[in-house]
Amino acid sequence: MIDFRSDTVTQPCAKMRKLMAEAPVGDDVYQDDPSVNDLEVWTAHRHGFEDALFTASGTQANLLAILSHCERGDEYLCGQQAHNYKYEAGGAAVLGSVQPQPIENEKDGTISLDKLAAAVKPDDLHFARTRLLSLENTIGGKVLPMEYLASARKFVDEHNLLLHLDGARVYNAAVELNVDITEISKYFDSMTICLSKGLGAPVGSLLIGDADFIKRARRLRKMVGGGMRQAGILAVAGKMALTENVERLAQDHDNARYLSEKLGAIPGFNTFIYPVQTNIVYADVSQSIDIKSIAAELQKEDIIFSPSHKCMRLVTHKDVSRDDINVFLERLESLID
Ligand SMILES: *Cc1c(COP(=O)(O)O)cnc(C)c1O
Repeated sequence: MIDFRSDTVTQPCAKMRKLMAEAPVGDDVYQDDPSVNDLEVWTAHRHGFEDALFTASGTQANLLAILSHCERGDEYLCGQQAHNYKYEAGGAAVLGSVQPQPIENEKDGTISLDKLAAAVKPDDLHFARTRLLSLENTIGGKVLPMEYLASARKFVDEHNLLLHLDGARVYNAAVELNVDITEISKYFDSMTICLSKGLGAPVGSLLIGDADFIKRARRLRKMVGGGMRQAGILAVAGKMALTENVERLAQDHDNARYLSEKLGAIPGFNTFIYPVQTNIVYADVSQSIDIKSIAAELQKEDIIFSPSHKCMRLVTHKDVSRDDINVFLERLESLID
């Protein structure tokens, strides 16, 4: 199977499975699970925060973050393309009565500070209370520039807002920029990390922030049914993901650049308008190519990607090798002729 749909499809390796089988566990709702406790303490310290919380998913971590920062009737500013606006079933609005104020992302994934300033509501009874700015890094595979992070911090301080990072793939950003993760995390009041994407753990995310914030998030996690019991089986996989699978993300980025270049050389596929920065490749597909039937054909050979209308998105990860990419390109070309 060669699966380009997402880096969420990565399988836990033999070493990770062994660690999981042997994990010391307890009841994490009583905060008795030594493996979860170890992961949370290590994560807080590693990223320069007071505390951390292990969550069932990135969606849950973002939900808890927004609900812990904001109250009913508050709003958060975010990108129109933000995962926590577009792809999380409207959770903050549905479950927290927190209104999103989405703003169109610029081409590089940032949100213009001028547009943000115009969207911050004055203290007036007509308006929701603007409380939080939520950024995403990477966003659509793009790395937010470091200068932008610094200017966003300055912006929130001037406007008395809090700053959250949806860092589902923040390690891809750090590896690509060749900076320590704290160079990114230091700008934020809270941050999430997905363990179950390119880092290769089977389940889980982390939410990090100060002690009071994590205390509120822990209560909310219980409320939304995310209080897990012997979760240490998952936490040891997460710890291994963070300690052993970070540096290898560079290979995924190299493979993505290779894939983009070779795919772009096939007539009808334009990858050059979407320069690859991390592990996500986009291509526009010409009208003359029926990409949906090609995808169906390749699926019969266990080569999987999700086509959309005149576009394709391919994600590289640890379970797709350079050889797999060559097989995919060869099979794709053969179906076009
Ligand atoms: C995948 C992802 C999430 C959500 O993670 P799940 O674990 O799938 O819920 C949140 N934000 C971004 C940017 C993501 O890519």
